[in-house]
Amino acid sequence: MPSRQHHDEFETNQFLGKELQYFSQAGFDLDRIHIKRNAPVATLYEDAIMNEGAVISSSGALINFSGKKTGRSPKDKRIVYEETSKDHIWWGPVNIKMDEHTFEINRERAIDYLNTRENVYVFDGFAGWDPKYRIKVRVIASRAYHALFMHNMLIRPTPEELANFGQPDFIIYNAGQFPANRFTAGMTSTTSVEVNFKRMEMVILGTEYAGEMKKGIFSVMHYLQPVKFGQLSLHSSANQAMGDKDDVTLFFGLSGTGKTTLSADPHRVLIGDDEHVWSDTGVFNIEGGCYAKCINLSAEKEPEIFNAIRFGSILENVVYNPADRKPDYDDVSITENTRCAYPIEFIPNAKIPCIADRQPSNIVMLTCDAYGVLPPVSRLTPEQASYHFVAGYTSKTPGTEMGIVEPSPTFSTCYGQPFIILHPGVYAKMLAERMQRANANCWLINTGWTGGKFGTGKRCPLKYTRAIIDAIHDGSLAKAEFETFPTFNLAIPKAVNGVPSEILHPARVWPDQDAFQFELQKLAGMFQRAYSKYEANIDPAIKQAGPVLA
Ligand code: ATP
Ligand code: MN
Repeated sequence: MPSRQHHDEFETNQFLGKELQYFSQAGFDLDRIHIKRNAPVATLYEDAIMNEGAVISSSGALINFSGKKTGRSPKDKRIVYEETSKDHIWWGPVNIKMDEHTFEINRERAIDYLNTRENVYVFDGFAGWDPKYRIKVRVIASRAYHALFMHNMLIRPTPEELANFGQPDFIIYNAGQFPANRFTAGMTSTTSVEVNFKRMEMVILGTEYAGEMKKGIFSVMHYLQPVKFGQLSLHSSANQAMGDKDDVTLFFGLSGTGKTTLSADPHRVLIGDDEHVWSDTGVFNIEGGCYAKCINLSAEKEPEIFNAIRFGSILENVVYNPADRKPDYDDVSITENTRCAYPIEFIPNAKIPCIADRQPSNIVMLTCDAYGVLPPVSRLTPEQASYHFVAGYTSKTPGTEMGIVEPSPTFSTCYGQPFIILHPGVYAKMLAERMQRANANCWLINTGWTGGKFGTGKRCPLKYTRAIIDAIHDGSLAKAEFETFPTFNLAIPKAVNGVPSEILHPARVWPDQDAFQFELQKLAGMFQRAYSKYEANIDPAIKQAGPVLA
């Protein structure tokens, strides 16, 4: 059959060159499978459309579906217990142990499955923009969609870098289309996402959610950066002022709090939207792309992200109109967690390479408080900054699920509990030291509810949150007059340009004061219980900076 495959030279195994030996040694059956290494975006489109049910959207993005799993599976994540890393790791429900032998069984299962495919996709790229601290990552996957996803999310090598790639530092075997065997020791489901720091490998079985690969690399960086390089990895976005005034801001926050949305700012250059390292010399992005939420996306409110959805971008689990292939961003029938993955240069203000050669001036901790208790903005002392970082508060809002009427509080330490590998106190200590050295201001911003909790109040309008961030950046907020917000003892400004001043103090916009007091005390109690889980390893002075119950 005269197929297209025979025309593209990169698709023939002998063009793997020096890499050929690696693939045969790793157990890949090169007589059977076709390895497509760093294939062009167009090829990945064609294959995903022919074999995986993908379609092209009206703006040229590739619409893909991840199957049954439309989010990460933290309960199925495992870390291999082995002598080189075991003493560093924060073992427990976040980092669940797996033995080396089980890892070998699953790794073999993944490779066996990949050997049954006609095409196996390989993407070689980098994680970490600073050449001093970057690692070489190899992704091996059965779906073209997964290769394109990592092509967008990792840092794409130049042709020279690819030709001289050499041994990767870390390898992902993604056989997510194939399940784990539930009779394999330690398997609690058909999904398994496992990391081995001795082999420096990751195996994925039984989930096709592409975000597992992205966050898997993040976990690796949360191990390697502090342990090997002495640098601090953070779940944050980052941007920088343009021109001479080149101050840097980091935005910490859990999923849905606004890292991606707020870091895309027409007045500032984007360093990155999700994963960074605060190094001795500045801040660098770990990734080469962004992974934005698409739910209710609009061109008016988030033009940078909306316009990044074009040829080369991947839309995940987004419903489209078959008549015109226009995505329907309001449709949640597949999932609320609809996403778009695009290379960072699709954002017009992105700074390439994604490195800021200076220390951050402002640290913004984002929270989406569905109780409407926390102020839209407060200034934190260094101890309060450590406290809130360790507590890692946000809330999940009631979605369209039946019966869920109450917001559910989430405390996810370091604003990224599922991805941390060491004890939270290690990251918190490094953060406090760096903030002190950089003399950075720290702000807590509530992008969540105001004027009442979920159901009675409303989410803080994006334009007000943006005005608050503008006031941080133009220096006016630091000079504002402050008053004390009780119980949490937070310093809150009396006025911010472009924001109605009554919303700055939550009590003033709650119609029912008793209800406000009740929610305030309730949330403070939740903070105390959450924090007590970590306090044993952390300076007692930090605990004093938390809320105090009346
Ligand atoms: P993840 O870690 O999952 O990538 P994220 O922190 O990047 O999450 P965003 O993708 O920025 O979160 O999601 C914030 C969502 O909340 C967006 O859909 C945004 O439109 C919406 N939103 C509504 N009001 C606000 C506000 N005041 N500030 C920020 N975002 C808001
Ligand atoms: Mn994001």
